[in-house]
Amino acid sequence: MQVLKLARSESHTPPNLDSPDLLLEKALALALPSSPVRRPPLASTTERCITRRGAIWLGQTCNLRCHFCFFIDRIEDASHPEHEFMSLEKAKRICKILVDVYGNNAVDIQGGEPTLWRPILALIEYCHAIGLHPSLITNALLLDRKEKLLEYKKAGIRDFLVSVHGLGPVHDWAVGLDGAHERQMKALRNLIEVGIPFRLNTVLTGGSILHLPQVARLATETGARVVNFLTFLPFADQATAGARTAPNLPRYSEAAGPLTEALDLLSAAGVEANVRFFPLCLLPARHRKSCFNLQQLPYDQGEWDFASLSWTSQQPQRMKTGELSPPSELAREGRPEWLHSLARRLTAFPRLRHIVTRGSREQSYREFARGMARGTGYTYGPGCNGCDAGGICDGIHGDYAAMFGTEEVRPIKLGFRAKDPTLYIRQQSKIAYS
Ligand code: SF4
Repeated sequence: MQVLKLARSESHTPPNLDSPDLLLEKALALALPSSPVRRPPLASTTERCITRRGAIWLGQTCNLRCHFCFFIDRIEDASHPEHEFMSLEKAKRICKILVDVYGNNAVDIQGGEPTLWRPILALIEYCHAIGLHPSLITNALLLDRKEKLLEYKKAGIRDFLVSVHGLGPVHDWAVGLDGAHERQMKALRNLIEVGIPFRLNTVLTGGSILHLPQVARLATETGARVVNFLTFLPFADQATAGARTAPNLPRYSEAAGPLTEALDLLSAAGVEANVRFFPLCLLPARHRKSCFNLQQLPYDQGEWDFASLSWTSQQPQRMKTGELSPPSELAREGRPEWLHSLARRLTAFPRLRHIVTRGSREQSYREFARGMARGTGYTYGPGCNGCDAGGICDGIHGDYAAMFGTEEVRPIKLGFRAKDPTLYIRQQSKIAYS
């Protein structure tokens, strides 16, 4: 294995690449088992209610160095308070609070890289036992051994969310390790053979946009259940000036073409696709239903509950040492305790969840989303003034506007001012999680 050394601000497109289709052919030769992949039928829904999925960060220790990682500084700095993995006991306490206080019924377990954490199987077993369906967000490097996957299956893993940032050298270049793509494709093959569902995550970078249609085809051929395309964001450690640069950050209009092609392929194959943090106006109208910006995120069952997120994202819940901070709940604001407690119990009944989660709770989540957009430097261009979707769109990031300007935006004309953040996303058919 050769660790690739590349400054974060440099171009992340390696030279002398094979054609995208040839790279896909090579990837499929590694990822596909000898017998045909069968995609089991999945229940789907257009009902949009607030997600009950929480998230836990075990510690910022990782075996890769993705240049766009939100926690890259914490991963590289072994003395950072969030660097070391926490104990199993602390992780269990966090997960129990996700269930008891926040009413979460699923959790995304992440590191850094959670497969490096020794007690991972014990945590999966625990989550499964307390009614928190566990998923792992992973680079899949350590899933190239089938015996390990059998252990994950036995422990009760629901699925893996595998980060695929292009094919072949493009992925290796993005994650900083020669050979990472090959091991990842072997991991996909193992997942198929062992029968564990998986979804894919792809960050939109200067390199990965060369392969978006091929990533979509990789998903359709291997039976991935969902593909998420994520804009390379200036959050957390990426907020540092100079982290996102003209060479490593694609312009929206550059990404829009390959993204549209990928979305068309996924739509034709019936695979759920989500695009996170991309201006609504820059995708064709038929794909706006897949656009999840901050105001739409709480309605995506693959995304995180803002209420529990506002607690787990605090440093005491991300550190090895120290006590947990007291849980605080977003949706609790302005509501008496008895009402909050009743609402939490009612969300356990699927037929009532829809009613309970509407109303003031949704308003709290929306205000939280708008606050997050303001706090992370989102802005609107002069062209946004005449846009009817401005009320449900975050606009564009301030650093992006400073780098490229705002001339790309194309105001949406609806004949009315959109106020409901679910206007487009309620047309999308998504996996119905139990
Ligand atoms: S508000 Fe601006 S960025 Fe958002 S959809 Fe409208 S024109 Fe595009």
